[in-house]
Amino acid sequence: MNDHFFIKAKKASEFSDFKRYHVGCVVVYKGYILSVGFNSNKTHPIQKIYNKERFSADNTPHSLHAEIAALCLIKNRNDIDWSSVELYIYRENKKKEPRMSKPCASCLAMIKDLGIVDVYYTIDNGYAYYNTITNKEEVMKTYD
Ligand SMILES: [Zn+2]
Repeated sequence: MNDHFFIKAKKASEFSDFKRYHVGCVVVYKGYILSVGFNSNKTHPIQKIYNKERFSADNTPHSLHAEIAALCLIKNRNDIDWSSVELYIYRENKKKEPRMSKPCASCLAMIKDLGIVDVYYTIDNGYAYYNTITNKEEVMKTYD
């Protein structure tokens, strides 16, 4: 866990054109950033596939989530050990305070399909860690 990558994820979130909230995601492997993504109004076929985890009917726009945006760019790489990949996800409110950005069921399904174990994300005024194998969450830090 490295605060530096949350700062990068925050930067990524600033590119988002999504109306309600801006989320950024950074994919880290052995201390290096492999990929970056942000949520968007843009729809994406892979988002549509994974949205089956959340929606039964196909009547919703499949706007792209930050995690899937970042992972789509590298999903076919077979030269990396996916179990050593870390995700950092950042969201803040209009007052620039960190807000809950735990991956939704759709993003979590892709994260698990790739074999990623370690997921770090902001929570309301702090950040937390989630392990996709044990399904355990742990609050790492909170701000006053
Ligand atoms: Zn999602």
